[in-house]
Amino acid sequence: STPVTYSAGLAATAKRGIIIKGGSRLECLGHVKTVVFDKTGTLTTGRFSLSHLEAVGGSKSRKEILRLLAIMEAPSSHPLSACLVSAAKDEGVVLSETVCALQHTILKGEGVTATVDDERVYVGNARLFRRIGMYNIPQQYTDWATEWSDEGGTVGYIGIEGVGIIGMYCVKDTIREEAPSVVSTLHQSDVEVIMLTGDGQGAARAVGTQIGLDESCIQSQLLPEDKLHYVSSLKGSSTDRHPSLYGGKKLILMVGDGVNDAPALTVADIGVAMGEGAALAVEMSDVTLMDSNLTKLLFSMDIGAKVITTVK
Ligand code: ADP
Ligand code: MG
Repeated sequence: STPVTYSAGLAATAKRGIIIKGGSRLECLGHVKTVVFDKTGTLTTGRFSLSHLEAVGGSKSRKEILRLLAIMEAPSSHPLSACLVSAAKDEGVVLSETVCALQHTILKGEGVTATVDDERVYVGNARLFRRIGMYNIPQQYTDWATEWSDEGGTVGYIGIEGVGIIGMYCVKDTIREEAPSVVSTLHQSDVEVIMLTGDGQGAARAVGTQIGLDESCIQSQLLPEDKLHYVSSLKGSSTDRHPSLYGGKKLILMVGDGVNDAPALTVADIGVAMGEGAALAVEMSDVTLMDSNLTKLLFSMDIGAKVITTVK
């Protein structure tokens, strides 16, 4: 392969919307042994659609549940929030300006909580409802949750303090078209591929299967700090973030959508930001893929491998 200089390599990548913070990072890209992908918004598009919504316990109608979901999710920037808001609008919910979520708090890796109509409302995953002691729902509903997540969906609940869970939903994301071939190219180059997610095991397994990852390469139900610990455990004892000589070092690259993945991106040898949050994530990443196309990752690693031959 033709060797490239730092500046030629950086120019070639920049031309394709890949922002790399300097030649030493580009060189690092040629020494990656493990690629860790975040799931939502990274291997998937993060554009969700609502596949199921059920009232639980009968205290609120479907429309009332949708209205609450929209009020709760409107201030949130999580990829699945936009889907819940637009699903409510599609079913005729009009968000009045006088009703809003007060004391809106994001519960990282779990969901959101806020006060609406003088009631404390929670929206999020089973982990959240177990933690707050509100996961008391009949078997029938837990069976649905298992069924929906086995189909690859992300299952969520809505509950009110003092009342309990009033509804459950399932949203579905789409896998990026190029994800399976990117994973198989990495495998062919002997690069280990790992997927991390805050989502449940069922959804994680369904996505993993479709992109060619077996169970041993998938870690689910992780909080942002769990992702950080996982990535740093892969790195072993190395604390040198940008070693200038890589002799035998196995570099860990982490790709994330930048919103929840910031801590893990920072601890990886190379942090790559992409997806909706990429523009905001330029600061804390080493590499930014401006147009969120995963094949750009392969391109950068390829250029990185070529650049090395000239500096030796
Ligand atoms: P991922 O690792 O897949 O990017 P996150 O850490 O962003 O996931 O979130 C983990 C899980 O927390 C989501 O799968 C979802 O179940 C729940 N969650 C996070 N934010 C919200 C929200 N705003 N509304 C509802 N559920 C949420
Ligand atoms: Mg994410």
